Formats: sequence, C-alpha cells, structure tokens
Amino acid sequence: MAIVEPLADTSEGRRRLGIRSPATREPVGEIVVSRREDVEAAIVKARDAQREWARVTIAERARIVRSTIDILVERRDEVVETIIDETGKTRLEALMMEIVPACDYLNFWSGRAVEELSDEKRKLHGYLRPVKRLIMHYRPLGVIGVITPWNGPFSLAINPTIQAVLAGNAVLLKPSEVAPYSGDWAIKLLREAGVPEGVVQTVHGDGETGAALVNGGVQKISFTGSVSTGKKIAAACAEQLIPYSLELGGKDAMIVCADADLERAAGGAVFNSMLNSGHVCMGVERVYVVESVADELEERIANIVRELRYGAGDDVDVGAVFWDRQLPIIERHIEDAKTKGAEIVVGGEADTTNGLFYKPTFVRNVDHSMELMREETFGPIVSVMRVKDEEEAIRLANDSHYGLSGSVWTRDIQKGIEIAKRMETGSVIINDASMAYGAPEAPFGGMKDSGVGHVNGLGALRSYTHQQPILIHRWAQKRERVWYPHTPKTIEEIDGLIRIIYGTALKKLGFFS
Ligand code: NAD
Repeated sequence: MAIVEPLADTSEGRRRLGIRSPATREPVGEIVVSRREDVEAAIVKARDAQREWARVTIAERARIVRSTIDILVERRDEVVETIIDETGKTRLEALMMEIVPACDYLNFWSGRAVEELSDEKRKLHGYLRPVKRLIMHYRPLGVIGVITPWNGPFSLAINPTIQAVLAGNAVLLKPSEVAPYSGDWAIKLLREAGVPEGVVQTVHGDGETGAALVNGGVQKISFTGSVSTGKKIAAACAEQLIPYSLELGGKDAMIVCADADLERAAGGAVFNSMLNSGHVCMGVERVYVVESVADELEERIANIVRELRYGAGDDVDVGAVFWDRQLPIIERHIEDAKTKGAEIVVGGEADTTNGLFYKPTFVRNVDHSMELMREETFGPIVSVMRVKDEEEAIRLANDSHYGLSGSVWTRDIQKGIEIAKRMETGSVIINDASMAYGAPEAPFGGMKDSGVGHVNGLGALRSYTHQQPILIHRWAQKRERVWYPHTPKTIEEIDGLIRIIYGTALKKLGFFS
C-alpha cells in the first residue's frame, strides 16, 4: 500500500492524492493537486499582497514573525501530531528536529531583520568618495517559490519562508506530497501571527505542481530536495533568468581519528546515522575509522545498535521509513553491499509487518565499490570502513560526487580543523555531526552535487532581496568635466589624475583605497 496514492479525481476532474502514515498505514488525509492555473492564480494574489507587505516597516514585519513563536509553542502538540502522523518519525525527533529549530529560526531571523535589511550608508573608496554617496537598499524580489522535501517537512518549510517574508516578499510554499499538512502548519501559524493571507500561501501536489510553480513567474526558487529534481529546477530557472538556491542530497563522511574519544564517536556514529530514520541530508552515511582503533569502535557501535528499538509510538528510538519509495533504495544498497563482501553485524532487513520499517543496521567491511558508500541511502544504517590512516580517510571522504557536510572526530581540535579544511564539503563539524543546518549564523550549502547557494548564514535575508545601490552625486555643478565635448584639456586632466592617484607614492600610503 503506497504512502501517497492516487485517488479518484474530484467531480471537476482534479487529481487527488491520498496520504497514509508510514508507521501505521492508516490514512491521514488527502490533497487536491494544484494545477498550473491554480498556481498562477496564487502567484497573482501573492503579487498583489506583496506590494502592500513591502510597505510594512521591517521592524513591524519582524515583530509579526517573532510573535509566531508564542503560537507555535502554544500549539506545538498539534503540530507534532501532524508531523508524526505524516512521517512516522519519533516524538523526540519531531520536537528536536522540527519544533526547536523552527522556534530558533523565528527568533534568530526576526532578530536580524532590521540590521540586515534596513537601508545602509556605505563609504565609497578613493577618488569616488569626494564626489558620490552610496546608499544600499535591500529591495524585496517579489514572489518566492519555496519547494520542500519530506524529511523535515515543517522546519525546512518555515526557515526559508520566514527569511523571504522578513525581506518583504510573498511566499508560495509547495510542501512535499508525502507530508503536506506539516508544511501547511508553517503557513497557518504565520497567518495566525498576522502575516497577511496573500503573503504566505500553500499550493499542494507532486512534481507537476512544483514544476508549475517554478515556471509560474516567481522571482526566486528556494528548493530543498534531491539532486535530480534540483537539476531540473536549475535548468528551468536559468531559462527564465531567475535566481535559485538548491539544498540537495548528501553522502556525509565521518572521519574517526586514532585519538578520538571512542565512546563519543560510537554514540555519535549511531545517532547521526539513525536520526530521523536516517533521512537527514547531512546525517552520517559513511564512517571511516583508522585501523588502530577500528575493533573498539565497531564493538561499541554494535552494542549500541543491538539495543535500539524501532517501531511506532513513543517507546522507540527509531521510527518508520517515511516513504515507501525510499525502502527499495535502502534494500538495494544493503543487498549490493552484501554481495560485494560487506558484513551485516546487526539488522539488514526491512520489517513491513505493521508499517514501513527498516531494522537499525550496522554494516562493516564496506568499500567504495558498493552503492552504500557512493549513493545517498537515507536509511537507518551505520556503514563503517577501516582506513590505514587519516590521509586515506580524507581521500575516501572526498571520493564522492556529493559534498554537503562531514565530520571529524578527534581530541586534537587543531588537527580536526586542518582535516576539516581539506574536506570537499559545504561544512564540517568536529566531534559531532548533522548540526550544520541548525546553526543559522553558519551558511549552509553544498559543494559538488549537493547544491548551489546557501540557506542561512549572515546575509541570508539579503539573498531574498535585490541589493540595489543608490549612488548620489554630492555637488551641484552644472556639468562634469568629462562630459562632451572632449578636448585635449580633459584628456590631459584625466591622464594627470591617473599619474597622481596610481602613479605616485600616494597609493602606497593607502590614500585613495
Ligand atoms: P524530491 O526532489 O523528490 O522532492 C522535493 C520536492 O520537489 C517535493 O516537494 C516534490 O514534490 C518537488 N518536485 C518533484 N519534482 C519536481 C519538479 N520537476 N519540479 C519542481 N518540484 C518538484 O526530494 P525528496 O525525496 O522529497 O527529498 C529528499 C531529498 O532531499 C534527499 O536527497 C535529501 O538529502 C534532500 N534534502 C536536502 C536538504 C539540504 O538542506 N541540503 C535538506 C533536506 C533534504
């Protein structure tokens, strides 16, 4: 039974999708798929609302967005129930990965808005300074399409949405068809807080609706999802010359050095591989451990994984596989690894008796001939490969077409930093993992196939604006010396200027820079 299944069309011939809980297979709701004309109508509504919203002061926008925190805290149980129903993740994961970060993003971005988005005077350098003034204006782009995946359906929706809204834009959110109601909550809470209805809207559906949004005439796409969809979106945005940010998949490496705290490294390897049933873009997918400490690390990992409880309800550690389409990928990677000589120490099979589960799994003796070490698996699996030394670990970590995040585990922080700098990834964590998206000060974005652009980081709010410089001439003279007609005198004057500014010792003294 599919988690997302086509239902009979509505009487007006609209497609409907039924949604089931992956943990219980019970129906949790249905959506009517928004068609191209629905998306276009929503964009028209958004455009009208955005003009008004852009006139609201930044401080007021920030006040409204910040007040969403109170409503979210008040209604968190309802939000959590929706997330659990749709995804089958555990309650702790829903609180920790959805509610906590959402509160934090609301708090952080609303706190930065005035500083980051207000007009600012910027000093010009050199010969320009005496003649011109510069004011930077951060002009909203207009209507932003936000397209999100199923693994963090609430927090990954609210984060880009509030960044865009604070910057004075309207947002059309297209949540994943796997968890549409979780995405709805982001919009519902913002509206309850006072963001006008047209400024934040949801359109529902699958790739058809997503593609209609991308091609509907929006001014930017903020996309979080798979590499293959990301490439289609990049092509569509390029065609329209609109900006986009792509937060895509990962195959994050964890490097365990010989001097690592092995108790912490083992616990970290298991937690960061299993968290959210392994459906974390920046979760640990590959563990490289230096030979000399591999026996101990593997033994510790095996002991932890053996104790993990999976299933539905609150007495478990690992929840459901969120979408039936992910299960065959997980199964294929494990089968391929087994065929090529990997050893399944714990788990290694699905359990679909009552819901959609994959047993918490520990695999060792893996290598790069296996899909498990090359393609995103997105399942509750710890995969460990032994390496001769740290050099080999770095080489193998970089031997990937992904480059989202990664981690280094060592007691020598300076060494950890040096290794981090050699990793071809968007971010690196030392002695922890799966954290980079959670630090809003840190720009989060992938290298290689893992994405283009950033979400988060100081300056993120400005990525939803056109940075519009306004240059103001300082003086009231009737004409500039270089205006027509050109004469031998003006040529001589400009030539003299070059000599004085760039051809004398003045430039070495830092004048004019
Ligand atoms: P997906 O690409 O299948 O779908 C993502 C969204 O795009 C969904 O809303 C989907 O309906 C929509 N979509 C599908 N086809 C489309 C099209 N042609 N045009 C426009 N929209 C379209 O991804 P998914 O399976 O939902 O998400 C899992 C992936 O997301 C994993 O690879 C994971 O690593 C990645 N991810 C990345 C980050 C990050 O920040 N880098 C965060 C979470 C998840």
